[in-house]
Amino acid sequence: MKVCVIGTGYVGLVTGVCLAHIGHDVICIDNNENKVNLMKQGQSPIYEPGLSDLMRSSMESGRLSFSTDLGAGVNHGEILFIAVGTPPLPTGESDTRYVEAVAKGIGANLRGGYKVIVNKSTVPIGSGDWVRMIVLDGLKERLGVTQGEGFTMTEEVEACFDVVSNPEFLREGSAVYDTFNPDRIVLGGSSDRAIAMMSELYQPLVNRDFSENKSLPPVPIVVTDLSSAEMIKYAANAFLATKISFINEVANVCDRVGADVTQVAKGIGLDSRIGDKFLQAGIGWGGSCFPKDVSALIHTAEDYGYSTELLNAVVNVNKKQRVMAIEKLQQELKILKGKVVGLLGLTFKPDTDDMRDAPALNIIEELNRLGAKVKAYDPIVSQTGISHGLSGVIIESDASMLADGCDALVLVTDWQEFLDLDFEKMAKVMKQPLIIDGRNFLDKRAIEELGYRYVGMGR
Ligand code: NAD
Repeated sequence: MKVCVIGTGYVGLVTGVCLAHIGHDVICIDNNENKVNLMKQGQSPIYEPGLSDLMRSSMESGRLSFSTDLGAGVNHGEILFIAVGTPPLPTGESDTRYVEAVAKGIGANLRGGYKVIVNKSTVPIGSGDWVRMIVLDGLKERLGVTQGEGFTMTEEVEACFDVVSNPEFLREGSAVYDTFNPDRIVLGGSSDRAIAMMSELYQPLVNRDFSENKSLPPVPIVVTDLSSAEMIKYAANAFLATKISFINEVANVCDRVGADVTQVAKGIGLDSRIGDKFLQAGIGWGGSCFPKDVSALIHTAEDYGYSTELLNAVVNVNKKQRVMAIEKLQQELKILKGKVVGLLGLTFKPDTDDMRDAPALNIIEELNRLGAKVKAYDPIVSQTGISHGLSGVIIESDASMLADGCDALVLVTDWQEFLDLDFEKMAKVMKQPLIIDGRNFLDKRAIEELGYRYVGMGR
């Protein structure tokens, strides 16, 4: 099928590349010329395992191209994905101006046959109908029709497109895997024709043709109305954030009573009603989705006069959790002024270069405020040299240099390669061998045997 994906960030680029890989004819549009030039040369502007190879092979097959020309994209696609960012406003609401600009641009370029416009961006509940209205506004503008001029939407114009909500559930760091192995595909909309086209688009994924485990049953497609599909995305992220805040709260109680949260999580996670995922205690959730989606849901509820008591608590627990590592440093080192603290990891999770709303940012800020000198080593940030706007932190090029002269190390991101670090050598160059394991990731006993004082989260 002919597809246009507008916005080539973590979601749009992965979606475009994967749809091309499964056989569709895809054009990806972005208004960032630098990004588009990079992609045209076969280079991915984001770090995502497996993405670059797949991108280059799809380009070579002629099924994937890149452009800044929205009109060309709209003209090409029978299915048009909107995958631009919806960052949080200071109020907690979602900033939908990028979606609005794209919807208007689509309308201004709509010609020819029937098209499905797909909201892949995470958008506030009710946005499906709003996008439809904006597209029509763009179309009217192009046709030179001003409001009140007696413009009546002919059946033909009304029938030339439908809007579908198709929320995205991929995780950064395993986005390609997740796209080929989804737990479900959610399609919200009222047009049978549009839903049928979307089902056809995803058929190879539904059949698990590109899945690691082809013997699994077909991927369920959940068809809903527009608002329910939009709500599914928010409810899913809010639930996952709740699970993490829950286990972090349990960890904080464990710390006080002398229990080990990793054992507790195992014990409760084996209960099939609970499940073992998202029960790793640590320094809290972050990234570009959970914080903004939870606050957007809280804000939506407020618009309707409803106060979300549970979600407010989920956010508050997370705020405190993010700087829990500092509390632990203070317990161990007492005064942080003049101390050197080394952070292992900066990104909000491993296998990504995304620093948006990462807990590391709060930790750096708080350590700076308390007068500590902060250094960091992150496999991606150190390697790419991209500063991500970080300030108040010295980026080291390897873990030994990081350890040199440190009063303490704080493991912030659970990068797999941290398990293989030479902690023995690192202990020798530290002022004192102290590790705060913010992700309960390291082998406590092995670290202690090397002479470290090990402090975990709730263990
Ligand atoms: P991103 O910021 O990485 O990418 C957005 C892209 O859109 C950028 O490349 C930007 O240049 C481009 N863009 C902005 N305005 C444009 C315009 N007018 N025309 C063309 N391109 C334009 O965002 P992301 O992380 O990919 O997120 C996109 C959406 O998907 C958001 O709503 C987000 O909440 C949702 N989402 C993200 C994730 C994730 O893990 N990142 C997961 C699920 C859902």
